[in-house]
Amino acid sequence: MTRAYIGLGSNQGEPVENIKKALKLIDGAKKIKITAVSSLYLTEPEGYEDQPWFYNCVAEIETGLSPQELLETLQHIENGLGRVRTVRWGPRTIDLDILLYDLCLVNTEQLTIPHPRMEERAFVMVPLAEIAGGALFPDGRTVNQVTNLLTNQRKCISIRQKMW
Ligand code: ATP
Ligand code: CA
Ligand code: CA
Repeated sequence: MTRAYIGLGSNQGEPVENIKKALKLIDGAKKIKITAVSSLYLTEPEGYEDQPWFYNCVAEIETGLSPQELLETLQHIENGLGRVRTVRWGPRTIDLDILLYDLCLVNTEQLTIPHPRMEERAFVMVPLAEIAGGALFPDGRTVNQVTNLLTNQRKCISIRQKMW
């Protein structure tokens, strides 16, 4: 079994419900068990700014799936929750990103782990640090160390709601 971290985000339909449904589907999927979930955060959109604020959280899992199998499972769950791919970084019912997969480095056409933009994103690093501050990046830095280097001013507010 491998420990991995998943970033969840939603800003369409009923975001809190979408994230709760996604967590249930992740935990119910073959060879995946959720072991911890952060509280919920409300995040200002970036990139494509004319859209509602996002709800974000991070889940810790134990999995017997390979990174590629995990990506396929998460994409299947995204599709099942009605995600339609329109503009990049645009509105979505659910977004499930693989952040870390043990200490593995993955670089294929479909998959980059650690997630290539996570270090700049408070909405990823802050909830991740809440549940796994001591977890390691493949280069040996801890999640807490990377979180302390955040400079991005994009607003990210804990709304202290328990999701799990
Ligand atoms: P961002 O990656 O900046 O958070 P996004 O989540 O909006 O943007 P998507 O449209 O959801 O981007 O994903 C585009 C592609 O990214 C996916 O089809 C997938 O193949 C690829 N991808 C690469 N690395 C990862 C990863 N670590 N987790 C999830 N998808 C990834
Ligand atoms: Ca994403
Ligand atoms: Ca994604």
